[in-house]
Amino acid sequence: MVYMKYIADVVTLEFFQEKCTGCGKCVEVCPHGVFLLQDKKVFITDRDRCMECGACANNCEFGAINVNSGVGCAAAIINGMITGGPPSCDCGVESGSNCCG
Ligand code: SF4
Ligand code: SF4
Repeated sequence: MVYMKYIADVVTLEFFQEKCTGCGKCVEVCPHGVFLLQDKKVFITDRDRCMECGACANNCEFGAINVNSGVGCAAAIINGMITGGPPSCDCGVESGSNCCG
């Protein structure tokens, strides 16, 4: 399967392996195959595949995942579709970059 990737190193996804029980829920719900379950341990395959939808963190009962959902590339694309304008997100507000430009 081919996954769309976004801008490198902007995603807010954090994974705390020490809290992970290997339940596999994040693997199940992630639409972009960001997590991989192997030998009862979860690994991140490629953080840049993450679109910050928040499904993994919402479904992790052990607080092993943190992601700032509702901002970034996914939000930018959705906002653009809703408003009929170009993608626009908050990524560049603090960094001064203009990733959607
Ligand atoms: S949902 Fe949480 S505890 Fe379960 S495998 Fe994923 S990170 Fe680990
Ligand atoms: S936020 Fe969404 S796309 Fe990113 S890793 Fe979690 S489930 Fe996958």
